[in-house]
Amino acid sequence: MNQQSFIPFHVPSIGEEEIEEVADTLRSGWITTGPKTARFEADFAQYLGARHALAVNSATAGMHLALAALDLGPGDEAITTPLTFCATANVIIQVGATPVLADVLPDGNIDPASIAERITPRTKAVLPVHLAGKPCDMDAIWSLAQRHNLRVIEDAAHATETQYRGWRLASAGAPRASDAVAFSFYATKNLTTGEGGMVATNSASLSERMRVLCLHGITKDAWNRYAEKGKWYYQVLESGFKYNLGDIASAIGIHQLRKLEEFAAVRRRLVAIYREELGEVDELELPEEATDGRHAWHLFAIRLRLEKLRIDRGEFMAELQRHGVGASVHFIPLPLHPFFARWAERPENRCPRALALYERLVSLPLYPALGEEKVREVARRVRQIVARHRAGRPVLAAVGD
Ligand SMILES: *Cc1c(COP(=O)(O)O)cnc(C)c1O
Repeated sequence: MNQQSFIPFHVPSIGEEEIEEVADTLRSGWITTGPKTARFEADFAQYLGARHALAVNSATAGMHLALAALDLGPGDEAITTPLTFCATANVIIQVGATPVLADVLPDGNIDPASIAERITPRTKAVLPVHLAGKPCDMDAIWSLAQRHNLRVIEDAAHATETQYRGWRLASAGAPRASDAVAFSFYATKNLTTGEGGMVATNSASLSERMRVLCLHGITKDAWNRYAEKGKWYYQVLESGFKYNLGDIASAIGIHQLRKLEEFAAVRRRLVAIYREELGEVDELELPEEATDGRHAWHLFAIRLRLEKLRIDRGEFMAELQRHGVGASVHFIPLPLHPFFARWAERPENRCPRALALYERLVSLPLYPALGEEKVREVARRVRQIVARHRAGRPVLAAVGD
């Protein structure tokens, strides 16, 4: 296969506006958290319709801050999905709590019925992940949370543009909302600042506590209360973290946010082309549209029908590489990592559906810079691979496909 035409799994869309704004920040002399971050926070809160948005240096930091500010700690359990990036479970461990894994639905999102089975008197929080940008069944999760007095922290790393029942995540206008929602601006995410994130909430007290914990436990109030002492004075109220987002990153974010809806429209169009090109391929299941909201289409994760193929997912990935298509898998389930294996041994962490789904998952390239022609090309190469490895076909017949 023609290696010159390799199609990468991801290419970010950074324009001249972002570059100009970064240059302006560098020239301004203010390069850490300052006016650009304040503007990015205000713009982002407005985009969501949320009361408070705190810019942080990653979604991981945002989730950690939320758990710490909500006082999760030793003895507490927090339920999340095995089909996520390790960050979601790591932050639970980092506050001293115990992660508990609930199994997933066919679309890979956490199954509320499985959450319900895992709830014990020690359960304090649920961390649903909107996998690929498809909203979780939040009504069911919020009902469980209400009944059992659980905090809900959404991992919205894939889900900045996601809507649930007509509302953006963390929107103050929605009839119900989570305690906090964490967004990621990592290099591959739909809105990127290279590294970065945002944590949104509609609770003034949670927002204030997260703000204090975000910067070493230093209180802004001290500035006011001790203003007579001058600008140099501050007080540390508790042992906090160093999670603030700098103005150089925020300069990028301000413009990424302005383009986000345009990007979302392109993603949607590319998904439609994948459907057109791969919809009839019997050996593949395509990811479904959201039925109760808006899918952010961060990922286009197809599911192989392994019984109709002669190769497994590993071989399929190797074939994609040989055919010049960058692909990935989201995610290696937590129990398969050596570190999480000891939790996985506990019966309440067994997630057979997530493990079975994992064997079938392949994420194809999906990003605005990809363009329609490249999507058709990826689909053409995928069809070739499928045709060559279709089950029940003599091997030689595949030659010349
Ligand atoms: C990317 C990602 C994260 C981590 O985001 P960072 O901003 O890198 O901390 C967390 N959860 C999921 C599901 C992700 O994909």
